[in-house]
Amino acid sequence: MNKDDFKKNAHDLIDWMADYYFDDVKSLPVRSQVKPGAVRAQIPTAAPMEAEGFQSLFDDFRDIVIPGMTHWQHPRFFAYFPANVSPPSVLAEMLTSIMGANAMLWETSPAATELEEAMMNWLKDMMALPTEWSGVIQDTASSAAFCAVLAARERATDWRVNESGLQASDKLAFYTSAEAHSSVEKAVKMAGLGKSSIRLVPTDDDFAMKPSALISMIEDDRKNGTTPTMLVATVGTTGVGASDPLEPLGLIARSNSMYFHVDAAWAGSAMVCPEYRYLMRGIELADSYAFNPHKWMGVNFDCTAHFVKDADTLKRTLTILPEYLKTREGNSVTDYRDWGIQLGRRMRALKLWFVIRSYGVEGLQAMFRNHIEMTEELAEKIFMTEGFELVTKPNLSLLTFRKVEGNAEESDQATEALLTKINDDGFTYLTRTVVNGRPVIRFQIGQINTSSDDVMTTWERIVALS
Ligand code: PLP
Repeated sequence: MNKDDFKKNAHDLIDWMADYYFDDVKSLPVRSQVKPGAVRAQIPTAAPMEAEGFQSLFDDFRDIVIPGMTHWQHPRFFAYFPANVSPPSVLAEMLTSIMGANAMLWETSPAATELEEAMMNWLKDMMALPTEWSGVIQDTASSAAFCAVLAARERATDWRVNESGLQASDKLAFYTSAEAHSSVEKAVKMAGLGKSSIRLVPTDDDFAMKPSALISMIEDDRKNGTTPTMLVATVGTTGVGASDPLEPLGLIARSNSMYFHVDAAWAGSAMVCPEYRYLMRGIELADSYAFNPHKWMGVNFDCTAHFVKDADTLKRTLTILPEYLKTREGNSVTDYRDWGIQLGRRMRALKLWFVIRSYGVEGLQAMFRNHIEMTEELAEKIFMTEGFELVTKPNLSLLTFRKVEGNAEESDQATEALLTKINDDGFTYLTRTVVNGRPVIRFQIGQINTSSDDVMTTWERIVALS
């Protein structure tokens, strides 16, 4: 593709992208309706020997790929958590992709590193996070959790596992709640510590971790010669959006010399609004903290803000310095290669910069408040609709509900059947979880273009399908 072709194709694509994002996506089914294997069947089994023109690539994208996509930017996407992208973020990603830089070292792109440092400081300021923390952008909250587990393991074993392997480790215990995201369990398993070292601390009626239960589990472990090593608390759990009480938990972690990681993957973005920061009371006690601007802040996937109280603990855990990575600047600059799992890393700060400047703190606050207000209106509507039960009240912009029909078992069957009908219909897309052993339907609002009308027409459709 030469320069003229590139320009023409890019202009055509931008036209298509603008039509898709602002208009056309609204008339597509939210969840892809293709059957398994349908996309694969349309792709030739071998790569072409001869070059193809761009038009045929684009035609196939439109005709084969688009029907097989679930439209996360659809204003009636209410499933999982959002991954809302915004136009300025998309434009930043285009610039990032044409530069194609690897931001592993300061020297491999000083602007990537220094913009990343500056953006992490902006986020701290925007969310009143402790000023002494340092930040790094990871790909996902799962990676941040893995880094945190490794740092906790090394700190607890005085870096013996890094040196001599797991045989040099005492028995370690990791505490979190059953409501925590599965990435915590995965991180502990990947760190070689085994599922059996995880303690699931019981939760209260609001699905928040019980500090008193944590204390007795720690005491039991100490009696059995196991070292309490790490506590992972969540602000905004994946199932129902519950939040653990950080202050008492952080104090328990501190008095037991445990590493304290806080995961606010989804809810963290909303902390731009001061009125929700009560959920973060005690956050200064954390050793590390992560949230995903790629979930709810309009920043394209992937972008996880990961803050640490003591960067040296993280770097000492992950650092490795072969000759070919040594640079003249040495320790006088930040080399983010030492702050995460992979060596090569994308420049992710540009999209954050573009988004924050394009909307301003006030624009972002308005978006979160709007989503949360629409969720509260929906909760009232559900509460008033016969044959439905609001199971968990809105936690920020997430609520759960079920269908009520006869006894509990019949209601559960009706709830599952309704969810299948909703998603086969394509008007909206919702997902499920289990609350107190029973299935519920989750409804979260987080797409930038979602209007109150989208939410209300979706509710009417759900009632009509029920
Ligand atoms: N933590 C929580 C609370 C989540 O809800 C999720 C995903 O939804 C994650 C962690 C994992 O996020 P990621 O996909 O960035 O690893």
